[in-house]
Amino acid sequence: MDQNRIWAPWRLSYLLGDKSATAGPEPEAWVEGADHHCFLCRAAASYIDEAAARRVSLVVDSGRHTVALLNRFPYNNGHLLMAPRRHVGQLHELNNEEHLEIMHMLTRFTRLFSDLIKAEGFNIGLNLNRTAGAGVPGHLHWHLVPRWTGDSNFMPVTCDARVISQSLEALWEAVAEARM
Ligand SMILES: [Zn+2]
Repeated sequence: MDQNRIWAPWRLSYLLGDKSATAGPEPEAWVEGADHHCFLCRAAASYIDEAAARRVSLVVDSGRHTVALLNRFPYNNGHLLMAPRRHVGQLHELNNEEHLEIMHMLTRFTRLFSDLIKAEGFNIGLNLNRTAGAGVPGHLHWHLVPRWTGDSNFMPVTCDARVISQSLEALWEAVAEARM
């Protein structure tokens, strides 16, 4: 009966500055211009054991120009981050192929999550620059947050805890299986 259990350990580790998001194997090759301290660059890098690295980084999909990973500190189940592989912080720095691939990937996950975790709606957004709330202002990333009727109840407002019905690992497995 793990479902509906309330847990929020990610918030604590986030507040305490846990650096586990950048832990894991060392890349075999970084994308050109990568910031080695950036977890998105780390997720976009190449590894000798690609499958193991994807699991550690929670990468669920990647394209020629794009990488998609589960947010380690989710606002809701299935909270995804989608980023260009290149470490760029401004929209005008993306070329047309990158823009297009990111939009296609966002679209694909709205369909996948509607099916896989029965998401009923989505918030999709981008925080541009630190003033707007970007946690990693040097590397553009879109947030895709699945929504369900009644998920925005009093809890997030009152105690900074959120109801997550599935562990990150279980969701990563489910997405990996669905994409096979
Ligand atoms: Zn980066």
